Amino acid sequence: MAPMTSSPPPPAAARPLLNRRLAGFGTTIFAEMSALAVSTGAINLGQGFPDTDGPEEVREAAVRALRDGRGNQYPPGPGVPELRTAVTDHQRRHYGLSFDPDTEVLVTAGATEAVAAAMLALLEPGDEVIAFEPYYDSYAACVSMAGGVRVPLTLHAPDFRPDLDALRDAITPRTRLLLLNSPHNPTGTVLTRAELTAIAELAVERDLLVVTDEVYEHLVFDGEHVPLISLPGMRERTVSISSAGKTFSFTGWKVGWITASAPLIAAVRTAKQYLTYVSAGPFQYAVAEALRLPDAYFTGFREDLRAKRDLLADGLTEAGFGVYRPQGTYFVTTDVAPLGEKDGTAFCLALPERHGVVAVPNAVFYDDPDAGRTLVRFAFCKRTEVLREAVTRLSSLRA
Ligand code: PMP
Ligand code: GLN
Repeated sequence: MAPMTSSPPPPAAARPLLNRRLAGFGTTIFAEMSALAVSTGAINLGQGFPDTDGPEEVREAAVRALRDGRGNQYPPGPGVPELRTAVTDHQRRHYGLSFDPDTEVLVTAGATEAVAAAMLALLEPGDEVIAFEPYYDSYAACVSMAGGVRVPLTLHAPDFRPDLDALRDAITPRTRLLLLNSPHNPTGTVLTRAELTAIAELAVERDLLVVTDEVYEHLVFDGEHVPLISLPGMRERTVSISSAGKTFSFTGWKVGWITASAPLIAAVRTAKQYLTYVSAGPFQYAVAEALRLPDAYFTGFREDLRAKRDLLADGLTEAGFGVYRPQGTYFVTTDVAPLGEKDGTAFCLALPERHGVVAVPNAVFYDDPDAGRTLVRFAFCKRTEVLREAVTRLSSLRA
């Protein structure tokens, strides 16, 4: 090889491999804390996944689809017709909403891809996205990957309700969309019909799009789940997202879906087709069956999780935590300040060794980590005996 006499000198400061849009995102807190649970053998109340699989008949439906050769090759881009129809039937059955399965539904690789595709499709660089913090970690990364600018509005303890005046004030001519999540991870807040109506009125008045993440739609313990898209003026401006992971306890299958007006679906599909194109072929058929489970399934699931919420919330209160009992989701947010702790992250890093339990520091869900400095999230989507053991281990914290 000839000597490269004319090559430019190496740059003084090597350019980082990771681009600026992703700088600072690192490893997700869920991966980090689950790895800690494995290495210490601690009980994992960090990452929100159930420790038992969902209904046997749904698992069997996936096996049948695999064996029958349904979905083993690329399914259609928008999702298999059986699932799209099951999604529209679900929206009608639970909320009285009608959608066209051919033009108003898009199947995605979990809610995560739905959020990513929506951001990539709908944002121009510099567009502002308003979201209530603390927020689910992929939101910030997806807004950033799409070149958007996030504008956080903090939900404050003890109620974690949205400040609607602050929302009005935060809207600027650059605001493109609101990114909402109800039931809300990590606080467990369920937006009321009145709050959603006020948000919808603002969206109409200021001509904003709204992306709503409703993956915990079937886990509302107090109050009701109101899909934002059902409110006046919202049909043409709302991208409604849900997922089978939480509702059917198969988080590894990564089957999600969007319901929205045809133009919004077409826009989001444009981005989605270049992310995964399609995914989870056989699981799509199984989820189609899951969505048709009788009402008793949905009620039983919610009541089971309600009992688990109460078990963990009561146990943590007893152990001396400040407890914010969630209205929905898999999670209870606590305050460790009453235990004499000043920093939730340090507390969570030490907890597996000290007490054999893993939790997640809420600070990672804020742009302003100080706002959640002493808050810690525990997941209760675990077996009752596991929750009991965790509570027993944590009960010595008070001492
Ligand atoms: N949104 C929220 C609020 C979540 O808690 C999660 C975690 N399940 C997701 C989205 C991601 O869902 P999926 O696993 O379907 O991608
Ligand atoms: N949604 C889950 C949680 O909040 C985590 C999912 C993930 O690891 N990406 O714990």
